[in-house]
Amino acid sequence: MTGCAVPPWRGNEGTQETKMNIVQPPAPPLPPELVARFRKVVGDKYAVTDQADIAPYVTEERDLFRGRSPLVLRPGSTAEVAAICKLATEHGIALVPQGGNTGLVGGQTPHHGEVVISMRRMDKIRDIDTASNTMTCEAGVVLQIAQQRAAEVDRLFPLSLGAEGSCTIGGNLSTNAGGTTALAYGVAREMALGLEVVLADGRVLNGLSKLKKDNTGYDLRNLFIGAEGTLGIITAATLKLFPKPRAVETAFVGLQSPAQALKLLSISQNEAAGSLTSFELLSDIAVDFSVRHGIDIRDPLSIKHPWYVLMELSSSRDDACAALEAILAKGLDEAIVDDAVISCATRCPRHRSRKAARSSMTFQCRSPPCPISSRKPMRPWSS
Ligand SMILES: Cc1cc2nc3c(=O)[nH]c(=O)nc-3n(C[C@H](O)[C@H](O)[C@H](O)COP(=O)(O)OP(=O)(O)OC[C@H]3O[C@@H](n4cnc5c(N)ncnc54)[C@H](O)[C@@H]3O)c2cc1C
Repeated sequence: MTGCAVPPWRGNEGTQETKMNIVQPPAPPLPPELVARFRKVVGDKYAVTDQADIAPYVTEERDLFRGRSPLVLRPGSTAEVAAICKLATEHGIALVPQGGNTGLVGGQTPHHGEVVISMRRMDKIRDIDTASNTMTCEAGVVLQIAQQRAAEVDRLFPLSLGAEGSCTIGGNLSTNAGGTTALAYGVAREMALGLEVVLADGRVLNGLSKLKKDNTGYDLRNLFIGAEGTLGIITAATLKLFPKPRAVETAFVGLQSPAQALKLLSISQNEAAGSLTSFELLSDIAVDFSVRHGIDIRDPLSIKHPWYVLMELSSSRDDACAALEAILAKGLDEAIVDDAVISCATRCPRHRSRKAARSSMTFQCRSPPCPISSRKPMRPWSS
């Protein structure tokens, strides 16, 4: 977010580095009196100026993007975020909001020497309401914590992605993250009922509504979701919770082509209707890459296939495994599926790490999969 596209104090002198086609001028020094004013807003401990301490905020895990920043601010409240934005706008200083720094396209990286505003300290769950099935949490709450807190009250917060142990609710909404359950629950946009946002001039837009049937006026919330911080900084969100499924079953399927995968999707939607929660297509390269470079990862199918599908069924009754078996049997009968294994997680909890599978790139097996009933004999996975 920026109060002024080009900070007036920024110079373009010095060497420039290009990474992923982004020309990066060296970070300019921030006037010391301004640093002092920002420091006063968040407190000394939460204004980071040492370049060694700044490093984790300006690089990302793959080292595809590397930015520069003279200052990282770590506010602990909406009021502090508002004060930072107001000051930044008054002085034409550009800000880059950052959550868990897991974004894959460099939106959270200060490419042009912006001040980073890290939201990770704002990690309180303000309210869980099982009557309205909502959870109101601050932007810096880690996705996995939100999932766990929902599970503790027997509810599901369905957003799930490989980065869930590090990414934040603010980042998920700002990127409108999709994840592995988008098929059943939609993308992040569809999981938020209301937002609290700080605008560039420091005004706070409080839209933390729990109301599902809200048909009033403009839908400002949707302007900020997917905006990657360009229109404001999300400080809190009211999220939808869902009933927790009693049974979750996963299958790994080998097939010949994306066209066959679409046929299997169609069978799955017909047979399992609303229980199909994930359906992810993987190429053989992706599986090969995981098996070759991942730790303790094996392909559960004994022979290679050009394409794979990782699919998950959830149910409020104990019938997900039977439904999955029926879908795969039909797929085998119609020569759509070449081979498949079911994890039967609820029956064989040690079978595999569902988390690993959910990262879309890894499939981890520690014990043999449950056989599925089909007219074609299934090869058991062997270690
Ligand atoms: C292993 C892995 C798997 C992934 N899988 C998926 C997937 O299945 N589907 C998918 O859509 N994405 C996926 N992603 C990318 C995904 O978008 C991010 O991981 C996550 O949503 C970003 O959250 P974050 O807190 O890390 O945000 P960051 O990376 O810190 O920031 C991302 C963007 O949001 C902005 N931002 C962050 N917080 C705020 C805030 N509070 N207010 C305003 N703007 C803010 C930043 O400026 C930046 O533009 C994956 C990433 C990884 C590493």
